[in-house]
Amino acid sequence: MKTIVFLGAPGAGKGTQAAKVAKETGFIHISTGDIFRAELKNNTELGKQAKDYMDKGELVPDTLVVNMVEQKVAELTDANGILLDGFPRNVEQARAMEGRIPVDVVINIQVNRDVLVNRLSSRRFCPTCQNTQPVSAGAACQKCGAGVIQRDDDKEEVILNRMTVYEQQTKPLIEYYDKQNRLVTINGDRDIDVVSADILKEVQK
Ligand code: AMP
Repeated sequence: MKTIVFLGAPGAGKGTQAAKVAKETGFIHISTGDIFRAELKNNTELGKQAKDYMDKGELVPDTLVVNMVEQKVAELTDANGILLDGFPRNVEQARAMEGRIPVDVVINIQVNRDVLVNRLSSRRFCPTCQNTQPVSAGAACQKCGAGVIQRDDDKEEVILNRMTVYEQQTKPLIEYYDKQNRLVTINGDRDIDVVSADILKEVQK
């Protein structure tokens, strides 16, 4: 089973690109953010434990996340590949998965900070099917037609905190995976299909 990690700042397009690659390859897309949002919506114990951290744009404690991902991956014995979107989010998580979920390729989607802040504050989320789309696409989800909303953590003060959390905790993973010769950096500030074509080439190598 191939394991691909999608790395990038909030708003870089990890979720959008992982969903496209999943469609092309049949690999399973695992978004830790989507899982937490679903747990929150269903008011589960895990959702309750994650809520305060998510509201502030902080990382949920490593043990909760690592256990959750390992459990998901263990259920996927038949998958040809998995696409990890939003995990690992710091070096401790990366170390915790080593040996148990070996990583083949890390796709680092690079986008300038100004573009990111603009993208995050002007994107909308569908609580029904988890689609993300720009505010210019209107109030109905382009995939399922339900009403879209702004994620609480896409509001300006939280966005700035998420950026800081990324810089301090997630960005060191670039060097971590580069040293392991697993890192491929892709310019994410281009048309979505151009970006996904580049990513697909790397995934299928
Ligand atoms: P995302 O949709 O990937 O931006 O994730 C939304 C929120 O879920 C983050 O701001 C964190 O609070 C939490 N989260 C998602 N993935 C992780 C992770 N790997 N480690 C810790 N917290 C996470």
